[in-house]
This record gives sequence, C-alpha cells and structure tokens, in this order.
Amino acid sequence: MRRSIATVSLSGTLEEKLRAAARAGFDGVEIFENDLIGSALAPRDVRDLAESLGLTIDLYQPFRDFEGVDEARLEHNLRRAEAKFALMVELGVDVMLVCSSVAADSAGDDALAAAQLRRLAETAAPYGVRIAYEALAWGRWVDDYRHAWRLVREADHPGLGVCLDSFHILSRGHDPSAIRDIPGERIFFLQLADAPLMPMDVLHWSRHHRCFPGQGAFDLTGFTGHVLAAGYEGPLSLEVFNDVFRAADPERTAADALRSLAVLEDETARARDREVQVGAGETRVAEPGDDRGEPGRAGPGRGEAPASGPAPAALTRLPAPTRAQGYAFVEIAAPEHAVPGVRAALASLGFRHTRDHRSKPVQLWCGGGARVLLNATDPQLGHTWSGDAAVTALGVDVADADAAMRRAERLLAPPLPRRRDPAEADLRAVAAPDGTSIFFCAQDPDERQDWLSDFTVPVAGGDDAARVALGGIDHVGLFQPFDHFDEASLFYRSVLGLEPDDGIELAAPDGMVRSRAMSRDGAAPRIALNASLLGRGPYEDVRGGPQHVAFACDDVFAVARAMRTHGFEPLRIPDNYYADLACRTDLEPLAVERMREYGILYDRVGEGEFRHFYTPMLDGRLFLEVVQRTGGYAGYGSANSPFRMAAQRAEASR
Ligand code: MG
Ligand code: MG
Repeated sequence: MRRSIATVSLSGTLEEKLRAAARAGFDGVEIFENDLIGSALAPRDVRDLAESLGLTIDLYQPFRDFEGVDEARLEHNLRRAEAKFALMVELGVDVMLVCSSVAADSAGDDALAAAQLRRLAETAAPYGVRIAYEALAWGRWVDDYRHAWRLVREADHPGLGVCLDSFHILSRGHDPSAIRDIPGERIFFLQLADAPLMPMDVLHWSRHHRCFPGQGAFDLTGFTGHVLAAGYEGPLSLEVFNDVFRAADPERTAADALRSLAVLEDETARARDREVQVGAGETRVAEPGDDRGEPGRAGPGRGEAPASGPAPAALTRLPAPTRAQGYAFVEIAAPEHAVPGVRAALASLGFRHTRDHRSKPVQLWCGGGARVLLNATDPQLGHTWSGDAAVTALGVDVADADAAMRRAERLLAPPLPRRRDPAEADLRAVAAPDGTSIFFCAQDPDERQDWLSDFTVPVAGGDDAARVALGGIDHVGLFQPFDHFDEASLFYRSVLGLEPDDGIELAAPDGMVRSRAMSRDGAAPRIALNASLLGRGPYEDVRGGPQHVAFACDDVFAVARAMRTHGFEPLRIPDNYYADLACRTDLEPLAVERMREYGILYDRVGEGEFRHFYTPMLDGRLFLEVVQRTGGYAGYGSANSPFRMAAQRAEASR
C-alpha cells in the first residue's frame, strides 16, 4: 500500500516538510492548507517539487464549514470551493477533504446537508476533483463516521465519499467495525493517528496530543483491519497534530512516522492472517514471536469471514518480532577521571574485573548473574570518552541475532559498523534513537556471534570485590530528550518487542519528569525511559540526563552492608522518608530503622514488595541501583523516585 503523511505532522516550511517526507521514504503527502498559504512557492512549483522528490500529492485539506447553510451562504461556499478546486488542479491533487461543519449557525438537517454535499461534488467534478467528507469528533451536527456515511450515501454522487480518521472515531469510543459496511470505493481517504488516553475535550486532545500509530493507546491494528476489509485501496496516511512533532527535526519525525506505519502494516497483516485462519475454521496456531494474538484486540469483530471479501491489499511484512529475552550485558563508558569511581562502585557491589577485550580498552566485570562492560578511557590506546560516564550500549539476548538485525534494519534502525579483526565475533548492533547501541546477542552462541569470546585477556589479581552475589540486571534507566520520548518508546517496542506501561509523571526538584517503563510481560530486559519536560538543570538534553543500571538481588540488606563494608556509602535518604514510611505501612519499627541505616527505600503493591537502594552519582549523571523484588512485585519503586531525585539534588549541592 502507498504511504502518505500530512504536512501538518512535520515541522518547517512546506519545502522542508516535502523533503523530509521524501527522504524518509513516503510515497505521498496530504497538503495542509495553511502550509500552502504560508509558502513562498507557487502551487505549480509545489507540484514540481513534489514530483521531483518522487511524491504524489494525495489530499488537499481541510475545507471547513460547508454544509447545512442557507441558500446565500451556499452560493458563497461553492464559490470559495471552486477557487480551491482550481488551485488543486494546479497542485495536481484530486481529493479534497471536507470536514463536518462546526459553525454555530449551521442547521442540523440531514436532507439539506446531503443535498448540499451533492452540489459540492457536482461543482468539483469538472475539475476532476472528488470530495472526501470527514466527521470531526467535535462536529456541530455530524460527529460520527456512520452519520457522515449516511449523508454521503443519501447524496449519492460518485464524486463524494468519506474520509475516515482514526482519531475522530476512536477518541469518541465509536465502534469501528461498521466501517466494514462501507463499500471500499466510497472510502476516499484514510487518516491514521494514535493518541494516549487523556480525560480532556476531544478538540484539545486532537490538536495537541495525537501521535503516530503504536505510540498511543488506540487499537490502530484493529481499526486498519476494518478499513482494509472494507476494500479500501488508497494510501495509509498519517495526520498527526502534536506539539512536540511540530517543533522537532522533520527528518527525524518523518522516519519515526514511517517506522510506525511499517509496524502497523505488519501487525495488521498478522492479525488478518489470524482472522483468515479463524474464518476458515482452522485452529489458530500462534506464530513464533507472536504476542498480539488476542482475537479481541484485532480480530474480525463481527464474525465475518473476510476470506470471501475483496482481495487483500498488499501490506508491508516485517521479519517476525524479536523476543528480547534478557540482558547479556550493559556497557558503561567513562572518562578517565571517572573510571576509578565506577570500578570502586562495581567492586563494592561484588563485581569482579575478570577479563579484558582482546583489542579494545573494554573490561568485563561479572557480578553474580550480571555482566557490565566498562569501556574505560585509555589514552595510551588512543581511546577517550569525552562526556560524563554513561550507559552506551545494551546487549540483549535473542534467539536469532540475524533475524533481529533484519527486522531492526527494516524498522529504519541505523546499523552500527563494527570495526573488528577477522578473528573477532561478528556482532549485530543498531543505534537506538538516543544513541545507545543495541547489541543482539545470540543465546545459543556459535563461534562467530559469541560476544564473550572476545574477552580473552585474563586480568591478574583484579580488584578486591565485596563478597556478595547479585542476580542479573533488573532494569536500565535511560534518559531521553523530551522530543524523542515517543520515538524511543516505539523503537524499543518494535525492535525489541517490549511493551510500554501507562507511564507516570514525577514531580522532581528540577521539574516534571515523564517516565515510561518497557518490558515484555514484566520481565527482563526492562527499560525505564525518562524525559524532562523542560530539560533544565540535571536534565539538560545536550548533556544527557541521569541514567542508571539496577541489579537484582535476593537480600538487599546483605548487598548494602557489603557495599558499605567495602567503603562505599549508599545514597543518603532523609529521615523524614522513614518517619513517613513508619506511619503509612505496617512495617516493624526495627525494619524501618534497618532501612534508614542503609538508605533502603520501600514500595508495596498488593502482596508484592520492593526494597531498593542507590549509589551516589558516580560521575555527572550515572548511578547504580540494587533492587529486591518479592511477592511478584512488578514495578520500579517509582513512588520513591521523587525522594531519590531530591536526595541526589541534596548530594550534588553538598
Ligand atoms: Mg482528519
Ligand atoms: Mg530504577
């Protein structure tokens, strides 16, 4: 299917928007009227530019407040429309979006509205223009796509059809399955947008918070499945009004947008396969890596057997989703001055520096079930790290690294070139939106893919490590620039198969912090994405905000004690926290006192309990955490995050 994007979804001038869409690989664009009006380019030039970029102009939008008016106003509106039709001929676009009227003085008379829409289609016909009528979620009289379709059917003109916009339908909670009742050739256009669930009026929600499919909470897979089952063959087009995208780098946004469509198409195709199987009475067999098979989510909805419907449109297929099964390692890079501190912290948590990489200044540190690679600055080897100490790479266990890499590349993840000598492991890695390298590590290692086999240099003696055993890596906290937050979430979802939680907002001393955890069924590899609303103070985007690596353990007190014995103090948590903890929980006073002693924080959800502590900042923005989960606790102790942030702030000012 062809892929299109509305110019309103991207920042910049019309010319910049067209270039960004073309560079990302879109086939076409919808031109948002104000983008054209504000452009220095004449319509002819816009047409030529689009053509030279290999883009078609698929829709001109929007034409407002047309129907349900008196005769004098109708004549005026038709003259207004004719000027636009002439303009569209110059632009070389043949579909105009007309959205349902919001005019206070319009009439809610269906017969009148249908007759006037017919007049509009008749007026458009000589120009070769067709009219796609869209029900706005906040339309004065028409705010439901089923109502829009009734008017279109009643108007009965071949040049009049509907435009379906997922936001207008799903934001109102309207059942999208009746889309299947609309003949595909009468669906003139399809606009796709997702959105997070927000209790606010639909107009404000739509104008500021739309996002690309897969970044919000709507079931776009089911929605698109209905539209395709109806026989729609036009472009899949993204129309996303979003405050952040309007200000972000348009090329980056366009790539994010195209990734979202690739994922949507793939998921829709997989859902359709299941639907066909169910429709044909076959027993549904889950595919490998298929975790989205709930029939309720994307199934036929109305019990139809679509195999007998129109020929299915060709959708992009991606290699099967990658199942990330855990962390192989986390890599920390540190500038020269920070290396001793990072080493000391790791040793105090029971890590041992066991081996070095055969050709790079990278140290392997093992602690219980966790492995940390310390990419240590070594000027003698010509290696320097100029920023603060930071998490620079995640090694993720996957069954098939090649397949994971193929899928990631199809999802526009930039592959990372690995300089290696012929004897070294052939590692597959891509760059995440925040620049973190993601290594796909085959669990069943063969000669060429086992990353551990590159660590051949034994370390004599090594650091004196604390005598305590950690479990594996529990989670990694990665700071994201605010305008890459949704992009990062879609990236980790589509490339690693992690599902985002609902997210929370934390009131930190230096501003609001948005946090969203990603995991597969609550298990490793868990990633917590954090972003600061204004990116000030410690959350400055250019510097990169705080990051952390959390290790699991069975006895958080034993680890804290060993760390202190080893000369490393946990982050100090104020006494006020423990006074509050004592009165809001039924923890024994002695237990609270022990927590206070070691700076251990506590959270409880149902039967699940979480005890955790932090190291101080090891350099400007990196810290470590140790966590103990019991009773099936699935969270991250986020209730404690504001206190951790305040403690870090206090520590920084000391
Ligand atoms: Mg729309
Ligand atoms: Mg954490």
